[in-house]
Amino acid sequence: MSAGAPKAPEAAARRAAELRRLIDRYNYRYYALDDPEVPDAEYDQRLRELQALEAQYPALVTPDSPTQRVGTSPVAAFAEVRHRLPMLSLDNAFSDEEVRDFDRRVRERLGEAASVAYSVEPKLDGLAVNATYVDGVYARAATRGDGEKGEDITANLRTIRSLPLRLHTRTPPRLLEVRGEAYMPLAGFRRLNEQAAARGEKTFVNPRNAAAGALRQLDPAVSAARPLDFFVYGIGEVDGGSLPERQGELLETLRRLGFRICPQTRVVASIDGCLRYFREIGAERHRLAYQIDGVVYKVDDFAQQRRLGFVARAPRWAIAHKFPAEEAMTTVRGIEFQVGRTGALTPVARLAPIHVGGVTVSNATLHNIDELHRKDVRIGDTVVVRRAGDVIPEVVMVLAERRPHGTHRVELPKVCPVCGSPVERVEGQAIARCTGGRRCPAQRKEEIKHFASRRALDIQGLGDKLVEQLVDAGLVSSPADLFELDEPRLAALDRMGEKSARKLVAAIEHSKRTTLPRFLNALGIRDVGEATAATLATHFGSLDALREADEARIREVPDVGPIVAANVFAYFRDRDNAAILDRLLASGIHWPALPTPARGALAGKVFVLTGTLEGYTREDATERIVARGGKVTGSVSKKTDYVVVGREPGSKLDKARSLGLAILDEAEFTRLLRD
Ligand code: NAD
Repeated sequence: MSAGAPKAPEAAARRAAELRRLIDRYNYRYYALDDPEVPDAEYDQRLRELQALEAQYPALVTPDSPTQRVGTSPVAAFAEVRHRLPMLSLDNAFSDEEVRDFDRRVRERLGEAASVAYSVEPKLDGLAVNATYVDGVYARAATRGDGEKGEDITANLRTIRSLPLRLHTRTPPRLLEVRGEAYMPLAGFRRLNEQAAARGEKTFVNPRNAAAGALRQLDPAVSAARPLDFFVYGIGEVDGGSLPERQGELLETLRRLGFRICPQTRVVASIDGCLRYFREIGAERHRLAYQIDGVVYKVDDFAQQRRLGFVARAPRWAIAHKFPAEEAMTTVRGIEFQVGRTGALTPVARLAPIHVGGVTVSNATLHNIDELHRKDVRIGDTVVVRRAGDVIPEVVMVLAERRPHGTHRVELPKVCPVCGSPVERVEGQAIARCTGGRRCPAQRKEEIKHFASRRALDIQGLGDKLVEQLVDAGLVSSPADLFELDEPRLAALDRMGEKSARKLVAAIEHSKRTTLPRFLNALGIRDVGEATAATLATHFGSLDALREADEARIREVPDVGPIVAANVFAYFRDRDNAAILDRLLASGIHWPALPTPARGALAGKVFVLTGTLEGYTREDATERIVARGGKVTGSVSKKTDYVVVGREPGSKLDKARSLGLAILDEAEFTRLLRD
């Protein structure tokens, strides 16, 4: 015990021991089994609690404390590799303030009054790997393990196609160790999980665990079948040859040697640049093809790095700035069934409010009854909730260990919880529906909300709450009623003054000028979203033509299958719908005539999209193609004219190649649209 360190009270010592036990268990589940027991936020909180205790009572620090170590020891099934240079972890910062403190410490140690330059890089969520090249030839790879010793995964890493087996140089160093992150791109992760779920197998909680599980396979053939990739972000031991003395330049050199470097890396002049970068990447994060959980700042100059050195488990010259956690733990207070626009019943978990993904969440979707049963979520359970980007919060899993006694499996209700109509479930389908149709107030409300929404008629100021109020007050029971609202009746509503009433009437009037695709989307025909609405509009050219079409003609529309065609046909045959449609048109809703497809620049051309485009969402790209007379279909065939390829394309690209079709990258696609 160091002299003068305050002796820890017994309670603190007990808590520290308890935390160590807990964290060791979490580490084992996470690193050795690739099957975490709790979300990262929960783990981080426990680790921070232990760090704070140890900082307050240094006497509590033990050499084997998880605060002093990296990861866990390699598992025995793999041959052990002792790292020539230890593989460390990174310190974390969760706020701008902590980042500025880090920079202040760096400059103080360096005696640097001015600013320090940093290499800034996304923090990929995969696992750290060291790959060794002897005389320019790939020789060995190992996981980080406990930082000193890792697992031999030479054969497994070799299966990653972007890994060079020979360095791209005629004068390789005698020894070069590169370090980087092996990760699973999101598209591959989702596919893998879908396949596993379809086979009734266990799914992976996140891409990190999926990547670790894929790479730490005793049979490399299994690794080969998993979609893995590898970004290099640094080096270990080097013998011979000369490498740049700056991180940013080093990455450039590694790129020339044949390694994949994350394209979002950059060098900034000061800590302000780091924080700007954090915001930029944060905004882009959910469009990237891989999962990142923060960004890493590294002092760019290696001479400065050497002067800064290391502490127990991390370098002093780097820090990981983490995004707000997207997963958190909470308890389920209730499970209710919400009724959607088409009557579909969605189970929703009512939660003890929890801060996750930057907001407070108190409801999370359970998707459908099958998902609810697969995850077996019950009232009283402790669950992991995820909120990523704008996506609706969802329950990821139940922490089975924490289930209280006396819980019950939740069953599908027999009647609609809103209108009491029978609930019907078509054999073999995941969705159960209320059969009340427009008689069900919930369906009525959702139909009108959808009609007024941004991508439909876009009625400004007609939000969800107001729609509910209008339906509850009996002022509106179908979209057509909206156009008969007047100021005096609106102004009489709660929390609605004359001014707001006037504004709303004006907005409703304004919405009458629209487009045919928007109008078709607004109708809320089952299975007809934005893309299908646009396709139907171009195919038929006018609403009248679509209304009169028989089912067989609707089936001729590209990408419209028999079920969708039947729904569209049934919608227009329904008498109530027809009456509402007539009233809508009589109220003065109108749209410009569509360009006849035969005249558009892409008339008759058939497109297939694959992978993620940087500058367009799928809907955007589709809209632009359709506006020029082209069509977008879901699968590649001999009839396809162009295949547009974004990042991380799927098997469609291979198929397009094998058929010898025209393949466009994003820049070529943009040019085609422009010309
Ligand atoms: P870390 O993941 O926070 O940071 C270090 C790692 O970052 C490196 O080893 C490397 O793999 C990676 N990295 C990604 N991009 C990098 C870049 N550009 N440059 C350098 N490194 C880069 O630290 P850790 O010690 O591996 O693990 C801690 C993380 O694991 C935390 O997020 C923690 O929540 C989680 N964890 C969770 C549990 C659990 O039970 N849920 C258990 C243990 C650990």
